[in-house]
Amino acid sequence: MLTLLLATRNPKKVHELRRLLKGVPVRFLTLGQFPDIPAVEEDGKTFRSNALKKAMIPSRSTILPVLAEDSGLEVRALGGAPGVRSARYAGADQDDAGNVAKLLKVLKKFPRSQRQARFVCSMVLAAGGKPIGIFEGSCAGWISFSARGKTGFGYDPVFIPAGRQKTMADLGPRLKDRLSHRAQAARKLKAWLRANPSAGPGGSRAAR
Ligand code: IMP
Repeated sequence: MLTLLLATRNPKKVHELRRLLKGVPVRFLTLGQFPDIPAVEEDGKTFRSNALKKAMIPSRSTILPVLAEDSGLEVRALGGAPGVRSARYAGADQDDAGNVAKLLKVLKKFPRSQRQARFVCSMVLAAGGKPIGIFEGSCAGWISFSARGKTGFGYDPVFIPAGRQKTMADLGPRLKDRLSHRAQAARKLKAWLRANPSAGPGGSRAAR
């Protein structure tokens, strides 16, 4: 069975990734089990450049293939913000609730027609310090006028996927796993892992 190192310290992301990759014969270790691998600074301008960095740097320190992802929310009327700063939108000391509160405040006067947004996810699989696959997904929708729902994380309580009436947090994990940006990227990764069961540095690049 293939062992992959999931390069994230976000337990909610690990939980979702495990759920999304169910059915693939892969064992996951996480960075928590590798305290000597240093944290990577997420200073890229795009989700893909951050995901590349988060996968490639740790993969220099281990023989395991490393899977990293960078994701976030882009609001059209805000020029794509919070974007790569989604996790720190309200400040480095803030949490999901602080980020959601700031977003609702910033968009307070924006009508429904100006609240379009999308979630974006870029996943990178790296081995031996080099990327061997890039898998991406996005999920279009809009930002609600108030927070609703208890499942998921981040901006899920204020994101209504296109064609739905409820927030992602209200729709629940089963629907999120069908619709989300991460689910789309994970489906591409799953297909790639099935075609490349050894996932070594010689593996072919995935379709974006
Ligand atoms: P990262 O760890 O830099 O990739 O942070 C991603 C941030 O984007 C999270 O902290 C959330 O604020 C937001 N985000 C990413 N994916 C999701 C999602 O599936 N639902 C809600 N918010 C998300």
